[in-house]
Amino acid sequence: MTSSDPSSIDEAKARYAAERAKRLREDGLAQYEGLKEHHLDRDPWADPDFTRDPVVEDVDVVVLGGGFAGLLTGINLTKRGVSSFRMIEKAADFGGTWYWNRYPGCMCDVDATIYLPLLEETGYMPTERYASATEIFGYCQQLGRHFGLYDHALFQTEVESATWDDEAGRWTVTTTRGDELRARFFVAAGGLMHKAKLPGIRGIDQFAGKAFHTTRWDYAYTGGSPTEPMDGLADKRVGIIGTGATAVQVVPQLARAAKEVYVFQRTPSAVGVRAQQKIDEAWFRSLPPGWQAERTRNFTQVVTGNKPPVDLVADGWSAVLGEDTQREPADEAARARLEAIDFEVMEGFRRRIDEIVDDPDTAEKLKPWYGKHCKRICFHDEYLQAFNRPNVHLVDTDGKGVQEMTAAGPVVDGTEYPLDLLVFASGFEITTGLVDRLGFDPVGRGGVRLSERWHDGTHSLHGILTAELPNFMVVSFIQAGFGLNFVHFLSASTDHITWMIEHCLTEGISSIEATVEAEDAWLDLLWQRSGPLARYNKTCTPSYGNSEGSRTTLAARAAVYSGSLIDYADLLLAWRDEGSLAGTRVARA
Ligand code: NDP
Repeated sequence: MTSSDPSSIDEAKARYAAERAKRLREDGLAQYEGLKEHHLDRDPWADPDFTRDPVVEDVDVVVLGGGFAGLLTGINLTKRGVSSFRMIEKAADFGGTWYWNRYPGCMCDVDATIYLPLLEETGYMPTERYASATEIFGYCQQLGRHFGLYDHALFQTEVESATWDDEAGRWTVTTTRGDELRARFFVAAGGLMHKAKLPGIRGIDQFAGKAFHTTRWDYAYTGGSPTEPMDGLADKRVGIIGTGATAVQVVPQLARAAKEVYVFQRTPSAVGVRAQQKIDEAWFRSLPPGWQAERTRNFTQVVTGNKPPVDLVADGWSAVLGEDTQREPADEAARARLEAIDFEVMEGFRRRIDEIVDDPDTAEKLKPWYGKHCKRICFHDEYLQAFNRPNVHLVDTDGKGVQEMTAAGPVVDGTEYPLDLLVFASGFEITTGLVDRLGFDPVGRGGVRLSERWHDGTHSLHGILTAELPNFMVVSFIQAGFGLNFVHFLSASTDHITWMIEHCLTEGISSIEATVEAEDAWLDLLWQRSGPLARYNKTCTPSYGNSEGSRTTLAARAAVYSGSLIDYADLLLAWRDEGSLAGTRVARA
């Protein structure tokens, strides 16, 4: 029987369904908890004694967030000649994801020449194909300096409230530092993955050892730094909960540094070849003007199955995603072909495990049993290899997850695993309600709260504008385009948002918001397009990608513009070119 034999595909499908069934939980998205509630929200990088005077100001725009979304909003505003804006950021610097994620081994799995934005403008050459978190954070700071954004920033500051005053045509934004900013526009660019989550494990707070989330890595405890080996773990028993894209990067580092490492697994990741390499300077400097936009677009075409004549990036992603299964296949033969390709790709990952992992029982447990679009594929050349070390132990929970914790450590299947350190590589809230993720509840026209308008999930035009909250613009995947290269998405989204702001300011438009009809039509369009993806997701093990398998209205409304990000970006461009601001309600001063 060959691996593409229909019976093997059918067997795999049956296994996929059985593994999915094991993991489905009644509590869906509600199974997770926040860091704050468990006192794990400390910022290890910020000066806790930082103070400053409150800022009281009138500006054109308040931008919430200083990650790539906020940075690109600020940069695009600047380029469009809008200089009156403030950027509010909880962290002590720019960087967002790359400010918080400084765990050992942290890097970006998307080729740096297309992930780091505006390389042609800054002249920066990434050192390696997959840039380290340290390098990306440094680049975020460089962007901040290059475009003069530090002058606009209010760091270590969180928004407490945002209220629209219809008569004045202004948002009033207050913060934890006593600031009061009045702004025409409020852009919520607070991050796609900024709210870390913890597994809701019974007794989690009883654990008496050291614990932290990967976004709050405590080098004071582990020793070392993002660029130096951890020298404080040689006598420590370390556990890590989670085996997603973050854990895949952390585990090899822990394996090297700690006495014993226990990897608590609920669902294994599919892990392909990383093949890190230095960027060749002669090649990089020879690239013609406009190369980055072309390369970025080409990558997105490749990974959405659009098969451009050349594959410019040509890395592991092309091999995995070159054939798109998110579109409706033309006929049964096409459907069967895509299914076979999907199966072969996943078989390749499963074979790689057998080739690398010595212990057959461990190898079996590390195998991913789901389709290639179900979870983010990982690429790493040391993760699977780490399980061959005598100090690394896989604790597979058979899809149930760690459900109980004592003062000593996690308990799985009646066995307690005593630990000195427990690392939570448990991910982020992505499809939960925006108000929850923002941490405050914007108040729109006539006192209408965002939590009321979005009580059953997102209501938006393009994922950006919403009715009754004028001049409020959101940067988020939800109801917007999704791109494997997040920065490509953020570039398109922030380009659109800043175009609208510039347009309103120059055309004397004092407020813009979606109409309810346009929100409904947009959702209809999203649902029409998402049929194949929704059907596919139904076969997937639970994850943030399918709202943990939830079938609530909130989850249904958390749709994305399926297909290619380029289609979404082109749609926004066409909307702008058409010129009537279709689907919006505007008021003029
Ligand atoms: P994920 O949400 O992908 O992973 C969380 C992990 O925690 C999963 O393995 C999950 O299991 C596990 N988990 C949750 N609850 C329990 C429990 N009770 N017991 C045991 N395990 C549990 O988060 P990550 O931080 O790994 O990644 C999030 C996203 O961040 C990625 O998908 C990617 O988009 C991005 N990322 C990107 C990187 C890049 O290089 N660009 C690198 C790292 C992250 P289960 O799968 O069963 O839910």
